[in-house]
Amino acid sequence: MIAHRLGLLAVFLVGSASAAGPVSPAERELMDSIPANTLRGHLSFLASDLLEGRDTPSRGLDLAAEYIASQFRRFGVEPGGDNGTYFQNAPYLKVSQPMQDFRLRLQTPDGKSWESTGAKVMAVTNEAVDATDLEVLKVTVKDQNSPLPSAEQVRGKAVLLYVAQGSAAANARNRALQTMKPAVLVTYGVIAPAPFRLRPASAASTSTAPYIVTSDADFSKFVDTLPEGLTPAKLTAKVSAPVQESIQLRNVIGKLVGSDPTLRNEAILLTAHYDHVGVATRGDGDRIHNGANDDASGVSTVLALAESIAGRKLRPKRTLIFMTYFGEEKGLLGSRYYAAHPVFPLRQTVANLNFEHMGRTDDSEGKREGQITATGFDYTTLGEALTGAGAATGVGTWSHPRNSDDFFARSDNQALADAGVPAITVSVAWIFPDYHRPGDHWEKIDLPNMEKVVRMVAVGVTRVANGEVAPQWVESHPKVKRYVEAFRKLHAAD
Ligand SMILES: [Zn+2]
Repeated sequence: MIAHRLGLLAVFLVGSASAAGPVSPAERELMDSIPANTLRGHLSFLASDLLEGRDTPSRGLDLAAEYIASQFRRFGVEPGGDNGTYFQNAPYLKVSQPMQDFRLRLQTPDGKSWESTGAKVMAVTNEAVDATDLEVLKVTVKDQNSPLPSAEQVRGKAVLLYVAQGSAAANARNRALQTMKPAVLVTYGVIAPAPFRLRPASAASTSTAPYIVTSDADFSKFVDTLPEGLTPAKLTAKVSAPVQESIQLRNVIGKLVGSDPTLRNEAILLTAHYDHVGVATRGDGDRIHNGANDDASGVSTVLALAESIAGRKLRPKRTLIFMTYFGEEKGLLGSRYYAAHPVFPLRQTVANLNFEHMGRTDDSEGKREGQITATGFDYTTLGEALTGAGAATGVGTWSHPRNSDDFFARSDNQALADAGVPAITVSVAWIFPDYHRPGDHWEKIDLPNMEKVVRMVAVGVTRVANGEVAPQWVESHPKVKRYVEAFRKLHAAD
């Protein structure tokens, strides 16, 4: 009966010897150390107007980063960033494209022409373009199987890539054509004008061709009149060189080294993104997108977990890494950067629980009280672990029949999953009424519910951190094949 007695002792001391079972006294203490007012404090600062929607990059984003680091200092978690700080610095280039001198003109020998001087157009280039009377190749892509011209036919020419709007084949064909070094690639499509784009400074200056998208319907009509392949048209293009500014973006990282001499060599990442979408450039009234639920609620969850777990006498066995990312809204930039520059070896990173939309219960599909869900709920054993903690603490867990799969790629867990680490995003609500709108205010957070679910998550996280077996991908699941392959690759040298 010694094993049994040891088991009981372990439950009593660390409160988490198993993934299921009722809440232990230590776990009760942990839960009680997460009051709603702690969450309210974090949320009300991070989602205040002062931070101006925490766009990447912005002063508001930097203020949020300093706030998060100051909280980590207060909790006594160790710095997990560069040079003994809480910040992992990511050098980026902020690239903007001057359009004053932009010119794009297509004309045929019979005198017909189309011309743009920069309206309804977006240009992406690494260098200036100044070309007159380029030969024009028209390439129509109907689907993935549409044939492409040869590299020889493409090189040095102006390519008019003509695709059905919303065609899934467009991006892949576009990339393939870019590598064939056309002088310029022009396509017709929806444009999302942005004042700048962000590029990792470390990425070698990509040798992609100058790329121009126009939403001008007259362009489409003009291209309609041209034959497929080499056309009689000529193209003249003038695009200024982009203006690049070096900037630093920051992930904010704290860590709690595990108490077990062996298991401390394995880490669990607890993450959320601290950026949001900033301030709308136009509109009446409130234009600040405060991003309280998206994702100050996730950051507040990470902070509450760090404070409560670091405040216990006994640390969990595995190492915990508390991290908030920049640039999620710009395309998972912070998590992609981290996956490329991990502070703890990814091979020894056994799980990532990412948190989004933890505060609002008014999901657009209905009220979500006393329950949490996750993306890829049944992709990993983490769903099961959460269900066990939920049963112990009175919180239901569920998998959305569509969103749980569809949203998997829509948050920072994706960057870690791509690297092979079992990674999910935990949420209370999926889409809610103020999603990506100025009305995402902290006052609308359901604090009593958030307290309840964050306490449950704290129990779940410590049970996973103390569990004998590390979380796993559920290999039988049809949608995890690529992640299992990434996991195997990651562990090939073990
Ligand atoms: Zn988000």
